[in-house]
Amino acid sequence: MATRIGIMGGTFDPIHYGHLVTAEEARHDFQLDLVLFVPSGQPPHKTDRRITPPKHRYLMTVLATLTNPHFAVSRVDIDRPGPSYTIDTIELLRQQYGPDEEYFFISGADAILELLTWKEPERLLGMCEFIAATRPGFPLNQLTETVSELGDQYGARVHVLTVPALAISSTDVRQRVASGRPIRYLVPETVLYYIEKNRLYRPGAPAQADEPESEAAEAAPSVLSEVGPSDLP
Ligand code: NAP
Repeated sequence: MATRIGIMGGTFDPIHYGHLVTAEEARHDFQLDLVLFVPSGQPPHKTDRRITPPKHRYLMTVLATLTNPHFAVSRVDIDRPGPSYTIDTIELLRQQYGPDEEYFFISGADAILELLTWKEPERLLGMCEFIAATRPGFPLNQLTETVSELGDQYGARVHVLTVPALAISSTDVRQRVASGRPIRYLVPETVLYYIEKNRLYRPGAPAQADEPESEAAEAAPSVLSEVGPSDLP
């Protein structure tokens, strides 16, 4: 029987409990064997703000997913140059995990609503199913209409998943850090500690500058071994 693989695509700047609850809900509802978190290297549609370097977003994602045996993190988007087009992501993962497995691309409904503007949308729509995760209050009328149009016109298989925990947003987490408000209980403690240690999301913070990738890789074990309740802000 084919393995059912969820591909959780996102910028994860930073990853928060809304993302983790979404992945776990999708795993349960769609009987996924594995959910692969895939932090974007260079998000294709983002030109308006500076994105935190991939190494930090990747490491925070690793820290956040560590304790779930069904979760893993892929470097497939951050290890290749240029925009992280989803069609390239799925092709590379199919080479890695096999062409006959079943793939489900999971992301925010706002992103998935724009699917027809992505690279090679028709071919992409035939390669996997899509799970559009929504926040409470998201206008469902437009979403339902788009989902049925995509199905009727392109044979796309798009599912909607409403996740109350998505009331948490990365934008809010970044703004909270910038203004000194707490983020405990919005992100896992390991992520909170990583943000604090690397002074992410503070205006003019040194961590916004790029460092060699190897330094970030070396930071992971030290972050894990050093976390302790007294270290947490
Ligand atoms: P985004 O604009 O950062 O996010 C759109 C909305 O969806 C935000 O509200 C975001 O909340 C939420 N969201 C993002 N990822 C999510 C996830 N995995 N689960 C639940 N909610 C999520 O979107 P993006 O991160 O740039 O793009 C999402 C994915 O689509 C990425 O993998 C990207 O590469 C892909 N994409 C591909 C193309 C293309 O191939 N041309 C174009 C656009 C996007 P938070 O801010 O709280 O995360």
